[in-house]
Amino acid sequence: MNCPRCQTRLENKTIVERNGQIEIETCPSCEGLWFDKGELNLLENISEPVLFEWRNLCTEYEQLTPLNCPSCGDHPMMKKAEHPRDENVVIDYCEHCEGTWLDGGELEAIQKESWPIAIFNLLKKLS
Ligand SMILES: [Zn+2]
Ligand SMILES: [Zn+2]
Repeated sequence: MNCPRCQTRLENKTIVERNGQIEIETCPSCEGLWFDKGELNLLENISEPVLFEWRNLCTEYEQLTPLNCPSCGDHPMMKKAEHPRDENVVIDYCEHCEGTWLDGGELEAIQKESWPIAIFNLLKKLS
């Protein structure tokens, strides 16, 4: 699977949380994160602080560039979903496989305002 933003090959990363561990894909170049269906919700119990060391958010221009789903075979265009309380955070969401792409920095931005709740509300809005 390649990064939808910069086409770098994604690397597996294991996140340890209270109830086990989650495998996600990360881009070593732009620090984006790919979550398969349901994985984002599992992050609620996260206990590994390394995930939160992200650099600044992409520019607005980059945020608004349409991305293709890296997971689906025919690479459909992903939907943009603005974070309900922070318009600088634009999440890319695939309607087909229900995967979610977070650009580098977005997770940190979400985390700053009680992000598990924020993400939960966002996903509720999307479905
Ligand atoms: Zn990338
Ligand atoms: Zn997809």
